[in-house]
Amino acid sequence: AKAGGRGMYRFFEAGMSQSAVIRLELETALRQALRQGELSLHYQPKTAALSGEVVGYEALMRWFNPQRGHVSPASFIPVAEESGLIGQLGRWSLAEAARQIAAWQVAGYGWQRVAVNVSARQLVEGDLAGEIRQACVEAGIPPELIEIELTESVLMNQPDEAARALQAVKALGVTVAIDDFGTGYSSLAYLRRLPIDVLKIDRSFVQEAELDEHGMAIIRTVLVLARTLDLRVVAEGVETEVQAGLLREAGCEFLQGYLFGRPEPAERVEARWAAALPT
Ligand code: C2E
Ligand code: CA
Ligand code: CA
Ligand code: CA
Repeated sequence: AKAGGRGMYRFFEAGMSQSAVIRLELETALRQALRQGELSLHYQPKTAALSGEVVGYEALMRWFNPQRGHVSPASFIPVAEESGLIGQLGRWSLAEAARQIAAWQVAGYGWQRVAVNVSARQLVEGDLAGEIRQACVEAGIPPELIEIELTESVLMNQPDEAARALQAVKALGVTVAIDDFGTGYSSLAYLRRLPIDVLKIDRSFVQEAELDEHGMAIIRTVLVLARTLDLRVVAEGVETEVQAGLLREAGCEFLQGYLFGRPEPAERVEARWAAALPT
C-alpha cells in the first residue's frame, strides 16, 4: 500500500472487509458441513500415569471439506462461537459422542468415558443439561459415560449462570473438567463453589516443566490445590518421556498427549482394542 493517510486508510479498510468476507464464507461452509456430514470426531486417550492404562477418551472435532481440505478446530470453533452456530455444532458433538459410546458398548469394548469439549455459549445460553440428557436417551447410554471439558473463562465471566447450568449437568451424573487450567483467572472461591471433578493442566505448563523449575512449580501448585479440593488432575499435551516422568514424580494421576496417543478416528481406536485382546 502507498504511504500516507488516505492510502493507508484504504489499505486497512480493504483488509478488514476481506477478513470479514473470509469469516462469512467459513460460516456458510460450516453451516453446510453440518448438513452434509463433513464433521467427525477423533478420540484421544487419557491414561493413568502409573499403570499406563487408558481411562477414557477426549472427543475432538474434525472438519474435512472437499474444497478446503482439513480445517482446524482452532480456526472454525471461534467462527462458530461468534456466529452462534456453536449451539448446533455442540449438539451434534454430544449426539455423535453418545452414539459412538453406544456402538462401542455393542461391540463389547467396555465402558470408556468420553469427554466432549463444550463452549461457553453452550453452557450459559443453551440448555446444556437437557441436551446431554437427550443425547444419552437417544443413544441409550448412561450420562455417567459423558464428561464435559470447559475453559475457566466462562465460569469467571458469568459465575452465577455457569454455576446453575453446571449443577444441572452434574445432577445427571456427568463428570465436569476444567480445560486449559491455569491460563485464565481462577480463584479458589469459584473453584470451591462449582461442581467440578477434574482440572486439566494446560499444555503450556507441561512444556515449561521440562525447561525450568518455574514450570514445575506451577504444576505442583495445581496438584496441591487439587488435593485440597479433592479434584482429579489430568496433564495435557504430554509429548516426551521426560515430561511424563516429571509429572508422575510430582504425583499427577492422569496424562494425555501425543506420547500416549494422537486423536484418531473411532475405527483406529477400535483396531487398537482388537489388537490388544488376548488371543
Ligand atoms: P483443547 O480442548 O485444549 O484440545 C487439545 C488440543 O491439543 C487438540 O487440538 C489436540 O489435538 C491437541 N493435542 C493433544 N495432545 C497434544 C500433544 O501432545 N501436543 C500438542 N502439540 N498438541 C496436542 P485440536 O484437536 O486441534 O483442537 C483445538 C481446540 O479446538 C481444542 O483445544 C478445543 O478448544 C477446540 N475444540 C476441538 N473440538 C471441539 C468441540 O467439539 N467443541 C468445542 N467447543 N471445541 C472444540
Ligand atoms: Ca479439551
Ligand atoms: Ca485443553
Ligand atoms: Ca486449548
